Amino acid sequence: MTAGLAGYIAKNKWRPRPEWQVDNHAHIDSANPFRIISSGAKSRKPHPMINKRFPLVLMLEPLHACNLTCTGCGRIREYESTISQTLTLEQCLKAVDECGAPIVSICGGEPFLYPHLPALIRELVARNKTIYLCTNGMFIRKKIKDYTPSEKFFINVHLDGMEKNHDIAVEREGVFKEAVEGIKAAKAAGFKVCTNTTIYRETNMDEIDELFTFLKPFGVDGHMVAPAYGYSAVNERDIFMTRDDVHEKFREFEKISHKHRVNTTPVYLDFLRGERDLPCTAWGTPTYNTKGWKGPCYLITDAHHQTFEELMTRTDWESYGHGNDPRCEHCLMHCGFEPSVSLGINSKFGDGFRMLSWMLG
Ligand code: SF4
Repeated sequence: MTAGLAGYIAKNKWRPRPEWQVDNHAHIDSANPFRIISSGAKSRKPHPMINKRFPLVLMLEPLHACNLTCTGCGRIREYESTISQTLTLEQCLKAVDECGAPIVSICGGEPFLYPHLPALIRELVARNKTIYLCTNGMFIRKKIKDYTPSEKFFINVHLDGMEKNHDIAVEREGVFKEAVEGIKAAKAAGFKVCTNTTIYRETNMDEIDELFTFLKPFGVDGHMVAPAYGYSAVNERDIFMTRDDVHEKFREFEKISHKHRVNTTPVYLDFLRGERDLPCTAWGTPTYNTKGWKGPCYLITDAHHQTFEELMTRTDWESYGHGNDPRCEHCLMHCGFEPSVSLGINSKFGDGFRMLSWMLG
């Protein structure tokens, strides 16, 4: 998987698509009030690799409907008016082929509610994609029989804490228990299973340590963690963190991270602790849903484009990111920054070795 990804990155760095590298600053959308206070993008000298734009992870949202109403979910709020719409299987596959990213993260909504999910997974496996199926875990036991394990197919279960706090975060009792039963069932059937944890202002790191320790006997293949920061779709409520809060929280996380199989890369963890800077590479993780290609990123919606080409060529990428757009001020989300780790942007001496040890560890 790593070799395949490295080959894809090398190919795109050496022979980048010229039309995706164009500076779109001249096409600023004057209807967007945030862009007129954009600063610094022109004067800052970009890293040579930053101009090599290409997609790494497609965030595919075949539907936004969900059986839960989690506290931190922006999708059920932003897409409330179109919540009953779904993509057809053909639309999903067209997006996958159009984009060409080697990794497809299927999210939503709850993907297990999507009627064409078994066919979609089969088609993605046939296309040799690495698949992350992001789920709340409530339907795994019931539906796992419809799927076949593969080395490149990961079921990624959302768990924000131990039973009491996870059930509060997802606003329903019994979800933690069912998700854990789902994890056990999927592992018993031979699937790769990861967990995905959002770290909020109130998250207690001892509880995350307890959670990862609790999951160990079930053979979970890794844990992803990401910080929760406020953005427009979640109304910037108190549970979401500022940049300084995230740094502090992830300095605490460092004390427990070495004990567990954390999938988050070490360089990105440095960034979360505030020990280094990374540029926003939102173009590396494009999002496609029932409204089209969401631009510029998973979190901010300034436009929905009808084609991937339009997203890549019409978005003024340089006007986003920390210091360029106030909405990006506190963002340290993996969907915006982790691609820069894979692409070696702002890399330091020793990063290659750390990444290699992390991959082999
Ligand atoms: S910094 Fe975050 S919110 Fe801003 S464009 Fe990048 S990913 Fe999106």
